[in-house]
Amino acid sequence: MSETTTVPPDCLFCKVAAGRIPADIVYQDDETVAFRDINPQAPTHVLVIPRRHVPNATEAAAANVWEAVMGAAARVARQEGVHDRGYRLIVNCGPEAGQTVDHLHVHVLGGRPLTWPPG
Ligand code: AMP
Ligand code: ZN
Repeated sequence: MSETTTVPPDCLFCKVAAGRIPADIVYQDDETVAFRDINPQAPTHVLVIPRRHVPNATEAAAANVWEAVMGAAARVARQEGVHDRGYRLIVNCGPEAGQTVDHLHVHVLGGRPLTWPPG
């Protein structure tokens, strides 16, 4: 998070990271938390977030969180057993991409054939 970014007090994924709302957590470390999506679109559908509030992909480089978040996503894929058959990492950024939660999250999708291009 840049020094000018404010943390919304009601941020859903900040609450997940803080353990203030329940989530099915599959992996966590000092910098990231990974939990199952509440509305799964594939047999494996996990969201990986930075613990720190970062609103979106555009802000992520300045916040220096990509390495931790993408590293955790790859670990989750291996842990879920989809790393060999293939999986997809998706980051929706902004309204036209369908971002609905303004706290950076990487979708880890796998366990079925995934079509291309996405909708
Ligand atoms: P996006 O549309 O890329 O912003 O993705 C947001 C994702 O968060 C959606 O796939 C939702 O199903 C998921 N989601 C929303 N609330 C929760 C929650 N409380 N626990 C787990 N996943 C959630
Ligand atoms: Zn947040």
